Amino acid sequence: MSNFTLDIGAWIDLLPEPTLVMDPQGNIVAINSSGREFFGGSVLDCNLRELVATPAEKLKKWLLLWQQAAQMVPGTLRDPQGQKIEVEAVGIHRCQPPLILLRVLRQPRFLRQFIVQRQQFEQLQQQMARQTALIVELQQRQKQLEAENHHLQEISQQDSLTKLANRCAFESYLRLVWKEAAATHTPFAIALLDIDHFKRYNDTYGHLAGDRALQQVAHAIQSQVQKADLVARYGGEEFVLLLCQSHHDAAICILERIFNHIRSLEIPHASSPVKPYLTVSAGICIATATPRDCPISEVIATADAALYEAKRSGRDRYVLQTYAWMSAPISSSQ
Ligand code: GH3
Ligand code: MG
Ligand code: MG
Repeated sequence: MSNFTLDIGAWIDLLPEPTLVMDPQGNIVAINSSGREFFGGSVLDCNLRELVATPAEKLKKWLLLWQQAAQMVPGTLRDPQGQKIEVEAVGIHRCQPPLILLRVLRQPRFLRQFIVQRQQFEQLQQQMARQTALIVELQQRQKQLEAENHHLQEISQQDSLTKLANRCAFESYLRLVWKEAAATHTPFAIALLDIDHFKRYNDTYGHLAGDRALQQVAHAIQSQVQKADLVARYGGEEFVLLLCQSHHDAAICILERIFNHIRSLEIPHASSPVKPYLTVSAGICIATATPRDCPISEVIATADAALYEAKRSGRDRYVLQTYAWMSAPISSSQ
């Protein structure tokens, strides 16, 4: 026991706070140097009751608590002068009889405040971590929504069969091109292309083959235009081509290329009275824009009139008209 007490004595000497070791009866069996300083001399073999004015009942309760568990039990004792001494139990040694370590707290209020602040800080940290997680989740959701939105926008502007732009996308682009053309005083071209005798094609080869032919023609037109130009499926077996900053010659050059490319595919069309393979007709409108809202239907009507002329005059050809001062139609050579 004395050896053990000695060990404890050596150990508590390392503690900066005044520290006492007492047995269950409250007899002080060890004290560190800081404690000797604090109590003004050695209090070894004194009883805690002599040392501090603590009600016996309360002390008993503490002892019981300390014996049950080595948990921190803060409390307030009074020294013989009646001054408050805040103490806490820093441990219990489960020997027989058990020994309790009491530590005098020099700055109990500060410590408590610190603990409270620390708890608040931890709560704040947890709150921030939750908020950060929420922000990350929201950002991910936003990205997902943006991607979904982008996809929806794309498919709302796209023709599902040919993957070309649809009529709605074409009209928005036409408004933009019109504005740009009005500002730069440069003409642009619109061409309406229509597959010849496509009803007969479906009747001969079936609707599925008709779909495939539509895809082939769509791809053929798309392959001959530049990035700034737009090819759209205008409806049924009709396509529309929007050529930015395009004069007659440039437009005719692109249309010739498209016609030649479609001809070179030689998609069989046995029931066509025009050629034994699939052909198209086109109406081209060269438009000069003015600073007013784009008269979409007028521009289209001009191209459509040219297309009608191409059909009427034998198909497998294009006819060109200008919008605004309606010159005489120019027909392509076959
Ligand atoms: P024209 O030379 O005068 O243009 O004659 P056409 O037979 O091509 O013209 P018409 O307007 O009489 O017929 C168009 C045909 O295009 C009828 C329709 O079934 C077909 N068509 C329209 N959309 C589709 C489609 O998405 N798939 C298929 N397979 N056929 C389509
Ligand atoms: Mg048609
Ligand atoms: Mg047709």
